[in-house]
Amino acid sequence: MIILAPGHSTDHPGARLDDHNEHAEARGWVEALAALLSQPVSVALGTARQKAAVITELRPRIAVEWHFGSNHTDSTSGVVALSPKRGCLRSVEFACRLEQALPAARLTPGWYRGDETQGEDFFLLHSPSPAILITVDQFTNLTYARAQRERILQVTADQLRQLPSHGDSQIS
Ligand SMILES: [Zn+2]
Repeated sequence: MIILAPGHSTDHPGARLDDHNEHAEARGWVEALAALLSQPVSVALGTARQKAAVITELRPRIAVEWHFGSNHTDSTSGVVALSPKRGCLRSVEFACRLEQALPAARLTPGWYRGDETQGEDFFLLHSPSPAILITVDQFTNLTYARAQRERILQVTADQLRQLPSHGDSQIS
């Protein structure tokens, strides 16, 4: 079982651009990714708390939440940023594999809370399973992101399929 979640929720959709919003866009990507995978997938919706509850109940091999960057000053088009849950071998391994497969990718230490002095990210903190946050830059450059969509989803699906079943143990 793999859980995919679009970032944010219908009530709080995240970044906006004209008639588009981040949650709806991410949901489209996540549903397309789910269709590419030939293994059991559940799409989690709602608030971060509700998503965390689904993850707690279903205990997926990995949980992947999908976002789009909205930082205008850090415009690095096509970049995929990954935030592996610290200490989890499987999520770190998946992040590293995806980073290699998408050469423009980079690892980042946080998600909503890139600044670790602000504390642990809610989703990562409350997920009992390996959890990854993927952020496709930039929502302000949606045309570019959509042009990359098929490739990014295909690479992500390939890496999820190859995800080893080992790696649950924690590293300190
Ligand atoms: Zn977001």
